[in-house]
Amino acid sequence: MMFDWDYMFSLFSLSDFWWASWTVIKLSLASWGLSIIIGFILALGKQSRFAVLSIPSNIYIWFFRSLPLLVLLIFVYNMPQMLPSTSAFLSEPFWAGLIAMVLCESAYVAEIHRGGLLSIPKGQGEAARALGIRFVGTQWLVVIPQALRVALPALANEYISIVKLTSLVSVISLTEILMVGQRLYSQNFLVLETMAAVAVFYVFIVTVFDFLLKRLEDYLDVTKSNVSRQPSEEFIEAVRSAPAPQLKPTSEFDGPALKASKLHKAYNNVEVLGSVDLSIQTGEVVSVIGPSGSGKTTLIRLLNGLEQLDNGEVDLNGQPFLKLQRNGSSPPRFIEHSEHRNKIGMVFQSFNLFPHLTVLDNLLLAPRYHHMGSKKDLEMQAYQLLNKVGMLEHAWKYPHQLSGGQQQRVAISRALMMRPQIMLFDEPTSALDPEKVNEVLQVIEDLAREGITMVIVTHEMNFAFKVSDRVVFMEQGRVVCDDAPQLLRGGHNPRVEAFLKDVSLA
Ligand code: ADP
Ligand code: MG
Repeated sequence: MMFDWDYMFSLFSLSDFWWASWTVIKLSLASWGLSIIIGFILALGKQSRFAVLSIPSNIYIWFFRSLPLLVLLIFVYNMPQMLPSTSAFLSEPFWAGLIAMVLCESAYVAEIHRGGLLSIPKGQGEAARALGIRFVGTQWLVVIPQALRVALPALANEYISIVKLTSLVSVISLTEILMVGQRLYSQNFLVLETMAAVAVFYVFIVTVFDFLLKRLEDYLDVTKSNVSRQPSEEFIEAVRSAPAPQLKPTSEFDGPALKASKLHKAYNNVEVLGSVDLSIQTGEVVSVIGPSGSGKTTLIRLLNGLEQLDNGEVDLNGQPFLKLQRNGSSPPRFIEHSEHRNKIGMVFQSFNLFPHLTVLDNLLLAPRYHHMGSKKDLEMQAYQLLNKVGMLEHAWKYPHQLSGGQQQRVAISRALMMRPQIMLFDEPTSALDPEKVNEVLQVIEDLAREGITMVIVTHEMNFAFKVSDRVVFMEQGRVVCDDAPQLLRGGHNPRVEAFLKDVSLA
């Protein structure tokens, strides 16, 4: 028997097939979209530190990944036998098919999302937190956009599996492409011709959507972006001539801007910080120096609550910010007055700019989230701060288009956008090439001269001794010395002396 080509080609003008293709597209897109949303919730649940969320998510993923889709389809479709009230909905094969597909696919998609979530560096969440953005905002504005971009190739692949899986829905008599084919060949027995046409329909749908998803992937991939927009002369002039932003803290309080008392921190029962006291006056610049592992980073992270303290308290402008509350015999509770969080700005060693946003949007994200002003005003403030750190002409670039020194200057202006009362720097120049160090130190020095209150952890001794009002020397989790730079250099403390000799202070 010959292959009947004419018959096969005639099938492409059969409206039943095109209607069935439309059904497949609707069913697959709806299943994919819903699975992406539910899968994301499951992925977050599985990662959660709360057992009430992680255990059910784990069980769901385990169960629905183990169950064959065919079994699930028949089960859902026949559910009305057990629960007659569901019959209005589930006796419709499209809806029964959609529910079964979503139940099954969301378990797979959850694992894809989890891969995406795990790929987002911890520093991203910390940077958002340091800008006062809460959990949901951080997920929505910072983590999800990046995680989705990472997961997109795998999600696109999953879409293609879903298109093919829709053929199984014919078992519950949904008129999809395979079903139309089966009906035809059971009448004329031209099985191969009919199935060849069925195959072409599937290949066609997959090819079209594969192409569209690739376009979407390219569109969302900011690393392929090559923005070269330049500000005009008039624009630069307008930014420069606008009144300078008020960065100096304006608090009426005349006590210390930051007061930390008896800070303790241990990791796995090993004490890394033991009873540290630190008091910073408004307008004061304090550098924290000391050997590696002496607890400088831990101290600075305790000060802004990125790490929970084991004991002690931190006050800002005389108001409690962080403390450990002890109540009788119950375990002590960590209390954070998050309304004060925006008073502290943080600059990280690894910059932690948001890679999916332009420089300008990096600056605007938190002020917009906190509704700190109109879009126009905030934009002007952002341009002014970028101008201040010499980054105005890069406002529309993405972080990957900048050098480390430029990224750090952007990170500093991003923190300043929140008008913090105090700025914390954790080794802001340690991740930079030597020739980029000075451009960042210069920016910090300018801020110091403007009277901005700062705590700077640094290994740049000449810089520390030049700009600081006080230098704190730490060793083994304790403050060994806390003095004016000239006193610290006076050689009164042999340990400090030896450390400074090692780092050859000019
Ligand atoms: P520094 O910034 O002065 O180099 P750190 O504050 O980073 O020092 O670290 C102080 C000590 O705490 C080190 O011994 C380090 O290994 C330990 N440490 C820091 N963070 C953690 C952590 N998350 N888990 C366990 N140990 C930690
Ligand atoms: Mg450190």
